[in-house]
Amino acid sequence: MRLINLNDITKLIKETVIEINYKLDGSLVSLIRKAKERETKDLSKSILDDILENQEIAKEGNIPLCQDTGVVVVFLEIGSQVTFNGDIYEAINEGVKQGYNEGYLRKSIVNHPFNRTNTLDNTPAIIHTKIIPGDKIIMKIAAKGGGSENMSKVTMLTPTEGINGVKKLVLDTIFNAGGRPCPPLIVGIGIGGNFEKSALLAKEALFRDLDDSNNDETIKQLENDLFNEINKLGVGPMGVGGVTTCLAVKINYFPMHIASLPVAINIQCHSSRHKEVIL
Ligand code: SF4
Repeated sequence: MRLINLNDITKLIKETVIEINYKLDGSLVSLIRKAKERETKDLSKSILDDILENQEIAKEGNIPLCQDTGVVVVFLEIGSQVTFNGDIYEAINEGVKQGYNEGYLRKSIVNHPFNRTNTLDNTPAIIHTKIIPGDKIIMKIAAKGGGSENMSKVTMLTPTEGINGVKKLVLDTIFNAGGRPCPPLIVGIGIGGNFEKSALLAKEALFRDLDDSNNDETIKQLENDLFNEINKLGVGPMGVGGVTTCLAVKINYFPMHIASLPVAINIQCHSSRHKEVIL
């Protein structure tokens, strides 16, 4: 067995939450630059310019990309040959606490649906755990903003609604969201599993590389079709109109019950902050 020191986990989480809140991924920046070239309206172009300038200022000045520095989500994959010297969930939350304090990131978590008292350190993180073969730990870490999360949706379609039902649901959801989730968007979609599995699939889809495609030909085609159709909706950057409503569509799927076609749409704003780390 490989013993992992939990101080290393805490340090990694602390450094990563600061880094992702200050620096937008380079491939995302490239996509925004390309989108700017495609836009024809001055206002749409200038919004994308503002987003590009904002990420430069954040990177140069070591300041957050957005006032909403998000809830920390961790997909934690633990190798079966790994053991720890304590509680890994506590170690992750300690990293969040240190990162949000030392990085001057806004603390956005409240402890109760109605009392709504701020926990003052942005904990607890939302952690999804999976056991994998081997002696490594993989952590997919995101800082997920509330505005785009609020526009996300889980729906139980019937199997007869099929691929057209999924398309209609996604297009209606993105159109009705308008500028509220701060487009251009990354759209994560989970199809299958059950109610909660579809949501996890959609969230995890947001971690995929921006230029990849699903291996399944039908799903890949659906990703391409939805990308094109979403960009014809006319929502545009920050909802001002234009041809750039989304920068990518990622669909993950899973087997499901014969009676069900669960679909989850997890909307990610342009401030897409996540990173995968391996220990
Ligand atoms: S949706 Fe994204 S860009 Fe908009 S306020 Fe929230 S975190 Fe910031």
